[in-house]
Amino acid sequence: MDNTVHSALIWAQQELVALPSSRLDAVHLLAHVLGKSQAYLITYPEHAIDNDTLDIFATLVASRAAGNPLAYLLGDMSFMGRNFDVNRHTLVPRPETEELVEWVLAFSSKESLRCIDLGTGSGVIAVSLALARRDWSIMAVDVSAAALAVAQRNAQQLGADGVMFIEQDGLLGQATASILRSVDLVVSNPPYIAENDPHLQRDGVCFEPRLALVAGNDGLAFIRRMVDEAKSLLCRQGCLVFEHGYDQAQSIATLLYQAGYASVEHGKDASGKQIFTKAMWPGG
Ligand code: GLN
Repeated sequence: MDNTVHSALIWAQQELVALPSSRLDAVHLLAHVLGKSQAYLITYPEHAIDNDTLDIFATLVASRAAGNPLAYLLGDMSFMGRNFDVNRHTLVPRPETEELVEWVLAFSSKESLRCIDLGTGSGVIAVSLALARRDWSIMAVDVSAAALAVAQRNAQQLGADGVMFIEQDGLLGQATASILRSVDLVVSNPPYIAENDPHLQRDGVCFEPRLALVAGNDGLAFIRRMVDEAKSLLCRQGCLVFEHGYDQAQSIATLLYQAGYASVEHGKDASGKQIFTKAMWPGG
């Protein structure tokens, strides 16, 4: 390649030809290394790029060609219109999870309530809720210290100062011992993929933290535990709401009713898949 934006993009697009988004990914990566907008690249195709920058670009393109998610290479990802830092310690936030947050906001009253985001990862759920509902008291829990560091940085950068970050395995532990039976809302995008699911081999998924994706041989191990633990934390008529696999709604409804929850409702994503469930804890 010679050293213009135009030829760098043509070269990168060829390198990435196996990806459906080859052109867009090339543009994103080049804009990133140049510190310019995508509009700039389109307007100035003859802009000359120095050799060091070209080397960095070539390395990123090679990583992307090897399957690394674009979000990890750029270091951030848009979620509900805001930029969140992400890295290999956090799941890449999915658009479905934006719909989960919208669903929670739609059914929750505006009054101050106590909410826990379990498995916060990059913090997208906790931070988005905190920014939409300034009067909520929000705890973001994750077992991974490395993920929590990313979430905390996101909260700071985006001005969600009130969120409390807690390193804990699951809902129950020292940090939550003083709030038993007083949580109004537990929300989560838990790991829900079965160990041998072929989806784990697709796209960049194998670069994402396994802990954030996989939950036992039926994908329900984490959800079972969360359903059980949430009973100790939720107040009377408190809500548990979470995302799950497109084919898990039925089994999840059964396990929620068996655990004593009521009013189980499923929510659909934009493509009509039932991937959200909400249940009410009657207390007791
Ligand atoms: N809560 C984060 C998200 O929705 C991380 C979820 C996870 O790691 N399973 O992206």
